[in-house]
Amino acid sequence: LMFQPIVQVSDRQIKGVEALLRWHHPSRGLVSPTQFIPIAEESGFIRELGAWVLHQACMTALEWPDSVMISVNVSPRQLEPGDFPAVVQEALRASGLPARRLKLEVTESVLIANHEANIRVLQNLRSLGVSLALDDFGVGYSSLSYLNTFRFDFLKIDKQFISAVRDREDRQPVFEAIMGMAAALNLPVTAEGVETDIQLDYVISQGCSFVQGHIFDPPLQADVLYGLLWRQDSSATAQ
Ligand code: C2E
Ligand code: MG
Ligand code: MG
Repeated sequence: LMFQPIVQVSDRQIKGVEALLRWHHPSRGLVSPTQFIPIAEESGFIRELGAWVLHQACMTALEWPDSVMISVNVSPRQLEPGDFPAVVQEALRASGLPARRLKLEVTESVLIANHEANIRVLQNLRSLGVSLALDDFGVGYSSLSYLNTFRFDFLKIDKQFISAVRDREDRQPVFEAIMGMAAALNLPVTAEGVETDIQLDYVISQGCSFVQGHIFDPPLQADVLYGLLWRQDSSATAQ
């Protein structure tokens, strides 16, 4: 697992960290999750893999300052058997991490297939005290009704909108419309894939509360991130 900081725009503090899987293959080298996750989803192995990710992520986050949340990606297939809340509860119990520090990221596909059953699972997850984020918003169906059927705690806008911003004059009308909608729903937005100052200024001007991207940090090894978080914490206490 690698860990990428999520920075709060208002004070430039790291408020969250997303756990991101990597596969070190003996002959192929580093394989991207965009290649192996779909295969793990197809075979069903994602359930075992996803449970491992949850345990590792919660255990790692327990070593961090209490103010930092851990985000874990969850595939639709993990929700299917219906026992996923028990898997989450077990990861929290085994690690000792308080539920309020765990954020689960799902994509809207969770709301498309098995609509009713998955909404019940999301509600059960919420009752455990964990937060729920809607990931990669804006590139799929992005149906407004999904935002009505389940009230997510956070919205993550897909990096495709951000990477298209190259010059100061560039505008992304769909991105801006989503920001307007999120503001109306009182939903904090994270912009993903922010790499340049121009992109950072743009997403801030549009009201994004959080930024995740190479402009701050790429996905980091756990020990590197650990040092970063505690340095931030001690300088915040010193102020
Ligand atoms: P995601 O959840 O949308 O994660 C964000 C992706 O954006 C990550 O790609 C991250 O490395 C990348 N990213 C962040 N900032 C920047 C930037 O400034 N520039 C660029 N070019 N990229 C940036 P990554 O690590 O390759 O993961 C890809 C996808 O694989 C994730 O997208 C997620 O859908 C999936 N994934 C990763 N780990 C897991 C996991 O543990 N479980 C499941 N189910 N899916 C996972
Ligand atoms: Mg994600
Ligand atoms: Mg995403």
